[in-house]
Amino acid sequence: MTLERHRHGVCSALLPFGTSIFTEMSALAQKWDAVNLSQGFPDFDGPLLIRQAAADALLKGPNQYTPSMGTAVLRKAVAAKMKRFQNVEVDPDTMVTVTAGATEALAAVFLGLVEPGDEVILLEPSYDLYAPMVARAGGTPVHVGLELPHFELPAQALADAFGPRTKAIVLNNPQNPCGKVYSAEELALIASLCESHDALVVGDEVYEHLVYDGRAHTTLLAVPGLSERSLVISSTAKTFSMTGWKVGWVVASPALTEAVRMSHQFLTFCTPGPLQEAMAGALGYADTYYGELLSDYDRKRRMLCDALASLGFGIQVPQGSYFVTVDIRPLGFEDDLALCRALPASAGVAAIPESVFWSQRRQGRHLVRLCFCKKDETLSQAIERLTAWRARGMKGG
Ligand code: PMP
Ligand code: GLN
Repeated sequence: MTLERHRHGVCSALLPFGTSIFTEMSALAQKWDAVNLSQGFPDFDGPLLIRQAAADALLKGPNQYTPSMGTAVLRKAVAAKMKRFQNVEVDPDTMVTVTAGATEALAAVFLGLVEPGDEVILLEPSYDLYAPMVARAGGTPVHVGLELPHFELPAQALADAFGPRTKAIVLNNPQNPCGKVYSAEELALIASLCESHDALVVGDEVYEHLVYDGRAHTTLLAVPGLSERSLVISSTAKTFSMTGWKVGWVVASPALTEAVRMSHQFLTFCTPGPLQEAMAGALGYADTYYGELLSDYDRKRRMLCDALASLGFGIQVPQGSYFVTVDIRPLGFEDDLALCRALPASAGVAAIPESVFWSQRRQGRHLVRLCFCKKDETLSQAIERLTAWRARGMKGG
């Protein structure tokens, strides 16, 4: 036997996607000891109290499987949080499913709902896992690009993308990588298209608490017309600065929840109990916690945006998330991937090329994403290094 038919190893649905850009850029950052503003994770840990609660729960137990849908205490905390921040009534027993982060939540949603032949609309630039996981579920991603330079929703192109095979649209709000926060009018447009085509909306709301300049986050479940057709995903990764814990959830109507639970039980079955216990307590933190998280990130956002603007990059100040998008053309670069591959060695800073978030690479080729979920001193160091790189004549790309 030659093993010829296994020569690719990877199945055909995933083969076109290659290794995640986050893995590639973090490895380069490590190799060159660069300040890593590429993969979005804080270089500080979330509150000690949460870690203490998890440690206590680990020692006290139980340490066995939890119910597949999630522990009652965490499901209730998620429902209480939806009521508190969004004034949305959620039944913790029939509408909340706890998952291994938003990543598994998205996989569970696509695998639980998408039939071969279904189309799923993705708004580009779109987070890296949507297209591969839709494809692996047998669906066809239908890409609609936001209009550059301000990432506006193209009403006509969006309407044209809907058709009889549209199963769902994915709405990442606030959006990674571009930091867009959708307006009430844009949400209403999406709602009316979904209603008229009987389509679902998968909301990826992991940056729900990082919305700046007095804007408010609106969950899809609060948008008129969408409460029965939305699956809202979030996680504790960003809100509690512990991306490695992987505690997430899906909130949806009982009928849609049934589909999510069906696939979730075969993916991970359940999420570690002590982490669920600790995060259930964290979700109930006082408003001061959420307020400080936002004001800290707001300060970091300004710090990085101001510095990048004075270095000469074109800046898109993000409305939400912890990423800033820069246009590299004013500095004479035109290939984001080449620049990001060179930057760790030449400048000692790592960033993410945004063209990877577009189905047509050329559309995002002039854009680079940098994250500001870092200590102030880390951001200062990155800024110093970029300033020195610029003074040296900016090799790279
Ligand atoms: N969706 C988006 C838009 C993200 O940026 C991320 C990255 N954290 C995820 C999902 C995955 O979240 P989690 O770490 O909870 O799996
Ligand atoms: N969400 C993180 C980012 O956008 C990456 C998560 C991951 O590495 N999969 O940077």
